[in-house]
Amino acid sequence: MRARTALLLVAAVPLTVTVAATALKAGHWRLTRFPYGIRLEPLPRPDCPDCRGEGGWWTSGPYPDMEACWCWAERREVSLRLLPRSTGIDEPPF
Ligand SMILES: [Zn+2]
Repeated sequence: MRARTALLLVAAVPLTVTVAATALKAGHWRLTRFPYGIRLEPLPRPDCPDCRGEGGWWTSGPYPDMEACWCWAERREVSLRLLPRSTGIDEPPF
């Protein structure tokens, strides 16, 4: 029974990694690694009819400003903590 479970895990891990990599590539996300986890941030879609992958456009008027496009600004950022944050108590001061 344990060998069967181990075999299923060996088969499932590469499949999970493949699905995650496909989702990242298809969803136009940027993966950022930081010391305690990862962050997924949306990127502008190259096929967007409004910004054409630029992520926004400049407004006109005396004070032009960059307006963010809906194709990335309305999607949520996802942060995943993989390790607990250090409290600093058990670390040396310098
Ligand atoms: Zn857009």
